[in-house]
Amino acid sequence: MSRPVDIISKAVEDKADSLQELSGKIWSHPELCYEEKFAHDTLTEFLEKNGFEVERKYKVDTAFKAVFRQGSGGANIGLICEYDALPDIGHACGHNLIAESGAAAGLGLKAMLQANTSVPGTVTVFGTPAEEGGGGKVVLVDAGAFEEVDICLMAHPGAMNMLAPGMLSTNHGSAVFTGRAAHAAAAPWAGVNALDAAVNAYTSLSMLRQQLHPDWRVHAIITEGGTKPNIIPERTTMKFYVRCPTDKEVGVLKEKVTAVMKAAALSTGCDIEIKYQAEDRAAYYSNLLTNRPLIERYCTHWLSFGPANPALEDDRFVASSDIGNVSYVVPAFQPAFSVGSYVHVHTRQFTGAANKPEAHTATRCVSKAMAAVGWDVLTDGDFRKRVKESFKQQVASMCV
Ligand SMILES: [Zn+2]
Ligand SMILES: [Zn+2]
Repeated sequence: MSRPVDIISKAVEDKADSLQELSGKIWSHPELCYEEKFAHDTLTEFLEKNGFEVERKYKVDTAFKAVFRQGSGGANIGLICEYDALPDIGHACGHNLIAESGAAAGLGLKAMLQANTSVPGTVTVFGTPAEEGGGGKVVLVDAGAFEEVDICLMAHPGAMNMLAPGMLSTNHGSAVFTGRAAHAAAAPWAGVNALDAAVNAYTSLSMLRQQLHPDWRVHAIITEGGTKPNIIPERTTMKFYVRCPTDKEVGVLKEKVTAVMKAAALSTGCDIEIKYQAEDRAAYYSNLLTNRPLIERYCTHWLSFGPANPALEDDRFVASSDIGNVSYVVPAFQPAFSVGSYVHVHTRQFTGAANKPEAHTATRCVSKAMAAVGWDVLTDGDFRKRVKESFKQQVASMCV
């Protein structure tokens, strides 16, 4: 009998051309948050052709669920495709490769099940839109989309390989300062300067930074700063992100930032309207709880599939993602993998790198490793237990 490694490898390599084509189509047709109609249609068609039962527009217009089931019972392995792009610079976050990896891992795991007909189990490939700020997975989590799966796996392309890149909890905010317009030369004393409020807020945030924990982040921009120098600005707007290692800490930092904004309004005599993406909770994107047993197993498999570049960077905080919210409802991970050239995401150079042959090769290697981890969860009860135990402990530690 063939080894799992060989079956998975063959299933993915046999489809290498069509996977690359699938990814390339999405790459050539970048779509923003919640507008990913082309990617949704392209992926669902691909998965349907490859034997998955597809539910289009799953809870969200550009989300989907594709299922392959064998027998009754057994574990259900969730795999994630992302496919939204960035304004102006296209697939600079390489989500076309995340689409490819979710689909490829699905094919690998399906092949394993078909080669072992006595093993019951389910493979569920999720299409999750709007990662770039739109919180597609947050909406899906709130709608109970991941309740049927036992684990949920995805991987993200980047400049380097990292097993458990830290994803910070985050909440985005905006502020509108309203003052009163006046002629800046004839009667400046009659005005209430909303730009002073915004500048004050920006400067005070910079001062606040010295008092913050090293892993806490706050970054702001002034999005409207007035219209003409000879008019005292009556309206200015700001956008800012608050990020910390946990939701709870975001709650604390959010209060400090709100106080800074309000103080800036008060000191300049302006009114302020301040809003957060998630008013009802501390963070909108939660921090990522990387499941240790799952990621350790992933590492072993990934190395066994022979990645072109096997060097691993130490884990550190790199960004925020809505996979964090998924990791609070099921055991999950999101390792980063190198696309073959040392370029960072959200740059035009990365957009170019995200459709090179070496990026697709790296993606297939990662996909095989995810399929192999899924197979272990399907067939090894002790491992599954350890994964779930570790998950429970991690979630509990966040609630202390
Ligand atoms: Zn991104
Ligand atoms: Zn991304």
